[in-house]
Amino acid sequence: MTDTHSHIYGPEFDEDREEALLRAKASGVERILLPNINEETVLPMLSLCRRHPGYCYPMMGLHPEDVREDWREVLDRMYEKLAVPAHPYIAVGEVGLDFYWDETYREEQLEAFRVQAEWAVKLGLPLMVHSRNAQKELVEVLSAVKGELTGVFHCFGGSLSEAEELLRLFPGFCLGIGGVLTYKKSPLPEVVSRVPLDRLVLETDCPYLAPVPRRGKRNESAYVTFTAQRLAEVCGLTLQQVDEQTEKNVKRLFPKIFAI
Ligand SMILES: [Zn+2]
Repeated sequence: MTDTHSHIYGPEFDEDREEALLRAKASGVERILLPNINEETVLPMLSLCRRHPGYCYPMMGLHPEDVREDWREVLDRMYEKLAVPAHPYIAVGEVGLDFYWDETYREEQLEAFRVQAEWAVKLGLPLMVHSRNAQKELVEVLSAVKGELTGVFHCFGGSLSEAEELLRLFPGFCLGIGGVLTYKKSPLPEVVSRVPLDRLVLETDCPYLAPVPRRGKRNESAYVTFTAQRLAEVCGLTLQQVDEQTEKNVKRLFPKIFAI
């Protein structure tokens, strides 16, 4: 099993990060993919990956909520890291659009997302996409990118028609399914039950959005198994079947991890 979206390098885990990794391993998580947020998170993320080669894998990108006036310079510096031939990054992310809390940098977010989506094509890397209250703009930006894109619409929480639109328009993408799938009133199980399993991957987005029975607590990568279990119930499959198919999806989406 893979946690395709974990911020376990963050300060929330400073007291017990190694223990949290041991718990993830003990619960069957075989690898953890780490999306970057901003320039400050690069070093903690990389040092975690260096301590756990073959288990933790870094991405490079600027999160939409961290886009400010200086986004161009930030992206220039980030791109330098990706332009190094033997760089360790397995994806561009996390990038995207978030118009939920704040639209101050709306135009900058759109432009920064477009630039980073173009990096993904140019570098042949998948894109880890964050999108909140922005389906229309998300489709517009990605549709305008020339070349073949692959990636994950992380923490998908939209409607069935939104899911279908994204999967139809962007055949190289999967939906990232997290703890929200386990919440009592969530419409997500109904949506997910109508999406082919070969278009889904599992994630935690830890430390946020812990699944039931840990809802409201700090989330961690070990808990991805609760979401996997719920996905099996929703799809009428065994946990092993869900694990096997979502692992195939991870291998297809993140070939660099398995190329060594
Ligand atoms: Zn994230």
